[in-house]
Amino acid sequence: MRNLQKEYDVIIAGCGISGLYTALKLNSNLNVLLLSKGDNGLSNSSLAQGGIAAVVDNPDDSTQLHFEDTLIAGGGVNDKRSVDVLVNEGPDDVKELVRLGVDFDRDASGGLMRTLEGGHSRNRIFHHRDNTGYEMTKTLLERVYELPNVEFSEYTAVYSAERLPNGGFRVNLIKNDEHIDVYCRFLVLATGGLGRVYKYSTSSSVCTGDGIRLASEMGAKIKDLHFIQFHPTAFAGNDNGERFLISEAVRGEGAKLLNCNGERFAHRYDERAELAPRDVVSRAIILEARRTGSDKFYLDITEKGEEFLYRRFPLISSKCLENGIDISKDWIPVFPCQHYLMGGIAVDLYSRTRVYGLYAVGECSNTGVHGKNRLASNSLLEALVFSRRAAQDINEKAQAAFELIYDEADYVQDYSGAPVPSELADEIREIMQRSYFVFPDAALARQGLKSINSILDRLRVGKFKKDCTYEEILSLATVAAMVLKEIL
Ligand SMILES: Cc1cc2nc3c(=O)[nH]c(=O)nc-3n(C[C@H](O)[C@H](O)[C@H](O)COP(=O)(O)OP(=O)(O)OC[C@H]3O[C@@H](n4cnc5c(N)ncnc54)[C@H](O)[C@@H]3O)c2cc1C
Repeated sequence: MRNLQKEYDVIIAGCGISGLYTALKLNSNLNVLLLSKGDNGLSNSSLAQGGIAAVVDNPDDSTQLHFEDTLIAGGGVNDKRSVDVLVNEGPDDVKELVRLGVDFDRDASGGLMRTLEGGHSRNRIFHHRDNTGYEMTKTLLERVYELPNVEFSEYTAVYSAERLPNGGFRVNLIKNDEHIDVYCRFLVLATGGLGRVYKYSTSSSVCTGDGIRLASEMGAKIKDLHFIQFHPTAFAGNDNGERFLISEAVRGEGAKLLNCNGERFAHRYDERAELAPRDVVSRAIILEARRTGSDKFYLDITEKGEEFLYRRFPLISSKCLENGIDISKDWIPVFPCQHYLMGGIAVDLYSRTRVYGLYAVGECSNTGVHGKNRLASNSLLEALVFSRRAAQDINEKAQAAFELIYDEADYVQDYSGAPVPSELADEIREIMQRSYFVFPDAALARQGLKSINSILDRLRVGKFKKDCTYEEILSLATVAAMVLKEIL
């Protein structure tokens, strides 16, 4: 890989669906750097299973119904203008995916197949088996690799940036344990969510809230960070941090949710039963656990039979098999865990933060689309629609080219120090897990915040080496404090 250039028109931090789609939609005369903290394929986008929701060529459905379902799931506090943009512009972005080569499942007559997920009143989820995100990421990566104006840099992290006095940004990167300053006119944060601030999360290891901390330090507004989605059905068989998701689509295809006695119970908490929105089902599980005194829960999809299940859910069935569960014969042990962030960096309809030239797209952003609770399969759609809009805005603004003015000597810093104790990351995760899970509780949040604040003091006062471990722990502690403060 060649050395990084000193200046770029646009730097995009993050190589999931939102970063990739932004890169694809930027004008080809713009010189773009696309960063990923780990391998290019490591992201929550690659993990997405169920699919992407949109109303495409279906006379039995309407964007109005998709709009209403999104608002019902979101508790009515969604930003209606953003939802309107999402449901009306999203179908064209899904068609664009097909044009770009994404291989959605098709029926015998060649039409795109649609499935149902919790909270949707119609079948409108397009999917590639049960690994839609991997298929989308792989295809978009292939398309972006073809672009001569986009340079990739893997294993390259950004934790801090600042505005230059005459416009544009200095961006400090850590690559191969080395700090490098690069400069750009526009900076797009596509760094994903904060799942790894929890002990148990479905998120990939790269989602540690870095972009949210960076944006906040640059003066962007952070909004509703405690709007965290706890997915009701993560696989509950292992005890390591990253929990494997049993997609909503499994309930969409008819799976029953059972308590420790093998009884269905979800209907007692909400008439939509297993197909109620995620927050409702998660709360039902926690309340049922309190009632029965057991945290053993199961999904039963055995009635569907082996042939269907292994074809429709190849990833889920093989992951379960690895853990000794044959989903065509056995019940799948499940329990809620952290899954998604609805809040984040506040942006407008073009993904602009309140800092000129700084954009946020995908899960790190808060477009207001999801309200308090995301409707299943709306986040990939949001990532596409609002990344394209960010690119449109940058394309327009970039026509008025301006020179980046800076003196590198102004930015020389000392990054040396003692290694940070890496176990602080696990400490933060333990604190978050007990301070806020499914039901917000002010007393627990207050206790947790006290512990997090003392970790933050330690990080700030100590003379630690400013490497990726230090920066990541600082991100975790910073976003944890932001979440807990909102609950008080
Ligand atoms: C298990 C699972 C299943 C899901 N299923 C669905 C589904 O079926 N449908 C749906 O709509 N949504 C689903 N979601 C949610 C959806 O996948 C994500 O919200 C979406 O993919 C986020 O995309 P993104 O581009 O914002 O971030 P991500 O895909 O998470 O990408 C983040 C990128 O940022 C980079 N990064 C992070 N920090 C830094 C840093 N400091 N410096 C440089 N780069 C950095 C990472 O390396 C990575 O490239 C699922 C999520 C999970 C975890």
